[in-house]
Amino acid sequence: MALRKLVAGNWKMHGVSSDLEQVRAIAAEAARFPQVDVALCVPAILIERAARAVPGFAIGGQDVHQAAKGAHTGCTSALMLVDAGAVLTIVGHSERREAQRESDDEVKAKAEAALSVGLSVILCVGESLELRESGCAVETVVAQLDGSVPSNLDGEAELAIAYEPIWAIGTGKIPNSGDIAEMHSAIRSKLRERFGSDGEQVRILYGGSVKGSNAAEIFAIPDVDGALVGGASLTAGDFIPIVAAAAASTVEGGRVIA
Ligand code: PEP
Repeated sequence: MALRKLVAGNWKMHGVSSDLEQVRAIAAEAARFPQVDVALCVPAILIERAARAVPGFAIGGQDVHQAAKGAHTGCTSALMLVDAGAVLTIVGHSERREAQRESDDEVKAKAEAALSVGLSVILCVGESLELRESGCAVETVVAQLDGSVPSNLDGEAELAIAYEPIWAIGTGKIPNSGDIAEMHSAIRSKLRERFGSDGEQVRILYGGSVKGSNAAEIFAIPDVDGALVGGASLTAGDFIPIVAAAAASTVEGGRVIA
C-alpha cells in the first residue's frame, strides 16, 4: 500500500534568527499541499523560535541524547526537544555516525528515547561509496537498520526510515532508480520481518541530493514514501518544488506527523 508522503528538511548547522523568514515562507507555502506531511529539522537552538513562528507546522531536531537527563555537556534530551516545541527528530544521520562515531546501539537508544516521549523519529541509514562499489550496499544497510531500529513500535509517535547513501549527500549524485528501488524494498522486507504488519506503515524516505528537478522521478519509485532533504531545504524557493512533486505523486491515508 502506498503511504502518504513525508518531505522533511534537514537544516544541519544552518539557521539564525533572520532565517525564520524562510521557515515562515516554507510553512505558508507547504499549506497549499495538505496531502503531504512537511517538516523542518532545524538546529536545536532555533527550535523554540521556529516552533513559535509557525504554530501547527512540524518543527524537529537533528539529534537527541539517549539519556533522560544528567552529566552530558552540550547534549539535548528528548524532553528538552519536546519542551522547545519539536514534534520529531532525526537520529543516526551519517554525519553524526561518522563524526561523532555513533554506533547502531546508540542510534537505537536515541530512537527509543525520542519515541518514549512522543517525538516522531526519522532514523537514517546508508552505505559509503566503497561499500556500494564493492556490491555490499544492501546487506550493509539492512544490517545497520536491524541494529538501529527500536525494539517495538508501540505508542503514537511515528518511526520513519531515511535511506541516505553517504556518497549522495550534498554531492549532486544520486543512485539510479533501480538501486533506490532495490534498497527500499530490502528495507521494507526487514521492517516487515521486525514489526509484522506495522512494518508496512513505516515510511521510507530517500535522502541525498534531492532537488526540485529530480524529485518527481524519485517519488515515482516503489516504496519511496518521501524525502529527507538537506541543501535544498534551506529556502522556500528550493524546497517547495520538492513538496509539490510529492503532492503530485501522493495518495490518501497513512500516518501524519505533527
Ligand atoms: C542530508 O544531509 O540529510 C541530505 C540529504 O543532504 P542533501 O540533500 O544536501 O544531499
